[in-house]
Amino acid sequence: MSSCISISELFSLGKPLFSLEFFPPKNDAGGEKLLKTASTLKPYNPDFVSITYGAGGGTRNTTMKYARILKNEFGFEVMPHLTCVGHTQKELLEILEDFSSEGFSNIMALRGDPPKGEVQFRPIKNGLSHATELVALIREYFPQLGIGVGGYPEKHPESPTKEKDLIHLKEKVDAGADFITTQLFFDNQVYFNFVYDCQKAQIQVPVLPGLLPVQSVGQIQRFCKMCEASLPIQLLNELENTDEDKQPKVGTDWAKKQVKGLLEKGIPGFHLYALNQSEASLEILNWIRK
Ligand SMILES: Cc1cc2nc3c(=O)[nH]c(=O)nc-3n(C[C@H](O)[C@H](O)[C@H](O)COP(=O)(O)OP(=O)(O)OC[C@H]3O[C@@H](n4cnc5c(N)ncnc54)[C@H](O)[C@@H]3O)c2cc1C
Repeated sequence: MSSCISISELFSLGKPLFSLEFFPPKNDAGGEKLLKTASTLKPYNPDFVSITYGAGGGTRNTTMKYARILKNEFGFEVMPHLTCVGHTQKELLEILEDFSSEGFSNIMALRGDPPKGEVQFRPIKNGLSHATELVALIREYFPQLGIGVGGYPEKHPESPTKEKDLIHLKEKVDAGADFITTQLFFDNQVYFNFVYDCQKAQIQVPVLPGLLPVQSVGQIQRFCKMCEASLPIQLLNELENTDEDKQPKVGTDWAKKQVKGLLEKGIPGFHLYALNQSEASLEILNWIRK
């Protein structure tokens, strides 16, 4: 049922793509929610959907299970994520072989975060240290796969400077990445500046903006702390001055404005961190269709 398209080919068609991100559920109830969301959003024909790879490599089976369902039962073009955390190079090759033989055409190649309680990422014995090495591994053994990588408009938290982070981003692209999906951001200018910096650094692949329709003050504060994204004071004020049950509307309206502003500037597309929930994505997509 799935078409198996290289995402870089989709970019080359020149129309803005839109994609959705799911995460592997922790239990059956979470699984049902994911599938309900997928079914609600299917009629909007996302160009692709992605499914994350949980911390510590612990979701290997769940990521595969739901990637398979999303591809085979819903017909989505699915890009599974893969991280280096806790895996030897041999295991990574086995996982890639599984994805490839199941008919997935694209992989999001990530290093992953350090395991809980550790501040610094340390590769395991015979493991990989950086996403660049995973990209190179995929290119060597699975040259047919499309590869996405993560990019950080406000720099990756571990990086001492934006310049150093860009150098390593360029290494990922030079190793064979086809496109970049960004970390979340709430001010479009942050994205435009990042794209400009990428161009200056001769990074010439599409940079897909990643957007999170915020659901609550607590959520945005947690996420911004984790990834060190800046939080516009206007958005924070609006959320703080709104009753909890109405905060999702504030976050979704903000994301709508972001999408509008981005599309007006001719972006290659946008990626919604849907977090297995359909409401915000639905509202944004319906609004775009108007
Ligand atoms: C779009 C997107 C999707 C994500 N999906 C997932 C997911 O599914 N699962 C998950 O666990 N996490 C996910 N993450 C989070 C990601 O794993 C973390 O941000 C992680 O800390 C870095 O991963 P990376 O692939 O960007 O690493 P890298 O590209 O390896 O970069 C990590 C840090 O190392 C530095 N660096 C890179 N190369 C070198 C080098 N050669 N020498 C010195 N320093 C270097 C970089 O500047 C950066 O500071 C995602 C992030 C994004 C943006």
